[in-house]
Amino acid sequence: MALIVQKYGGTSVGSPERIRNVARKVAKFRAEGHQVVVVVSAMSGETNRLIALTKEVAANPDPRELDVVVSTGEQVTIGLLCMALQDIGEKAKSYTGGQVRILTDSAHTKARILNIDEAPIRRDLDEGNVVVVAGFQGVDEHGNITTLGRGGSDTTGVALAAALKADECQIYTDVDGVYTTDPRIVPEARKLDTITFEEMLELASLGSKVLQIRSVEFAGKYKVKLRVLSSFEEGGAGTLITVEEDKHMEQPVISGIAFARDEAKLTVVGAPDRPGIAYQILGPIADANIDVDMIIQNIGHDGTTDFSFTVARGDLAKAQKVLDGVKAHIGAKAIESDSTMCKVSIVGVGMRSHPGVASLMFRTLAEEGINIQMISTSEIKISVAIEDKYLELAVRALHKAFGLEAAA
Ligand code: ASP
Ligand code: MG
Repeated sequence: MALIVQKYGGTSVGSPERIRNVARKVAKFRAEGHQVVVVVSAMSGETNRLIALTKEVAANPDPRELDVVVSTGEQVTIGLLCMALQDIGEKAKSYTGGQVRILTDSAHTKARILNIDEAPIRRDLDEGNVVVVAGFQGVDEHGNITTLGRGGSDTTGVALAAALKADECQIYTDVDGVYTTDPRIVPEARKLDTITFEEMLELASLGSKVLQIRSVEFAGKYKVKLRVLSSFEEGGAGTLITVEEDKHMEQPVISGIAFARDEAKLTVVGAPDRPGIAYQILGPIADANIDVDMIIQNIGHDGTTDFSFTVARGDLAKAQKVLDGVKAHIGAKAIESDSTMCKVSIVGVGMRSHPGVASLMFRTLAEEGINIQMISTSEIKISVAIEDKYLELAVRALHKAFGLEAAA
């Protein structure tokens, strides 16, 4: 007998029929003798609908009240799933985040989980219940409802698995695992049987939307055995996210290719080349709550230098405004911006022990006539910023160059 935490995403519970399907899947695990805790998202589209609703009432809804509204989607699905389970003869009990005391900090709309009281869940499980918990929500020390950020049900699932020391945390979604890249762009993309936490974390932060980044961090930290599977296909093993790379297996050099479409680049032209300039440029950007991704500072000429960085396209106008102020302040020549950027990244722990990965990446892009505008690297990833019209071409060419397509 194992204790399994299963998380079902919005599409998996997107209709009454699909909720009944989830109930049957859960019942199968119960029939095999396992204890099951289920975490569910809101029905697909519901969270967006609720957010849109709040915007119709107020242009800038208060975050506390926003959480009160958007957390209701999950409350509907936990009740419906329990009814569906009971209808096929399973004992089941639903809980909101506040009821199981998923204690979070008070950062509304992006709260972090601090503690979970797992004793009541254990008691229910021991009494033969399936315990169904609302994803994406918690409660702060003052009893305020909080939410964990978009995609936060993944983190609820992993956090519950960690608190309960579950044997496995299964994330059921509409894809059957983690792929080498998005199959909508590269039809030959291949499902990975395993991937390391480190790689998954890079892929998630670089644009792969399979798992919420925070859930991967959490799973790595608490060594939760995490598996991504399809809720629509029977019998697949999905992708197992492992703590350590398999030392016995020949590690592929690259495990996956991630991309982010909507990037923008800003350049401070002719900034004085002296200590403190990077801080004077990026300090106000950080104060405006704008995330900066890649940064390049050129070598100086004649006492000035060009300083470029990328931001999400949605933040471009705001960043530009901030820089207009900075320009006058530091005495730079001009601010240039380019809103047609994207980022393509290759990720793999095998990179550590294989030289020549960067050169193969750059050669491949050169052969396609794609100009690289910025580069950033870590131990296990290389990212390039390129013009966004080349995104698909770049991903396809790199997928081929690194031999990621399905083995013939
Ligand atoms: N329902 C929330 C969202 O759409 C949380 C989740 O699905 O994980 O972001
Ligand atoms: Mg999701």
